[in-house]
Amino acid sequence: MLVQAFVNTLDVEDDADSLQRSSDLSAWLAAAGLGAADAALDAADLTAAVALRETLRAALRRHHDPADDVLTLNGPPLRLGFDGDGRPFVLGDGEGKGAGAGLARLLDIVVTAAAEGTWERLKVCPEQRCQWAFYDASRNRSGTWCSMAVCGSRVKMRAYRARQASTSA
Ligand SMILES: [Zn+2]
Repeated sequence: MLVQAFVNTLDVEDDADSLQRSSDLSAWLAAAGLGAADAALDAADLTAAVALRETLRAALRRHHDPADDVLTLNGPPLRLGFDGDGRPFVLGDGEGKGAGAGLARLLDIVVTAAAEGTWERLKVCPEQRCQWAFYDASRNRSGTWCSMAVCGSRVKMRAYRARQASTSA
């Protein structure tokens, strides 16, 4: 899923951000079919993309850790369109320049996934060092960790050590 890949352009655990320059962003959007490879993007495009990415990560966290407040995105200007069948979709500000149109497409995928009931299956791993976005394909949407073998067992091991420490104290 494109949104998952977009959120995972930041590898929290390895502190590796594949969107460091505006040229990284144009290359990513082009590879995803969301923009032209030679699009001249600037620092403002990169800032908007990173803001969108981290807002999405925070939103995905809410799929297993609900919050009381509303999360808002201050990103590129967006419009709402309606296709021939009257279905709404999100689109950019219409100037065709910058990353706005591509980022709007990502948001349109989010809105469509929410309407189809698959959005709530996209989650981020709650392990603080990880925060990897993953798709929870389990039947009852009970998946918590990106990988039970890695992050699930890491958390269990910490809990186990904490119990050992408290019983031996
Ligand atoms: Zn994880």
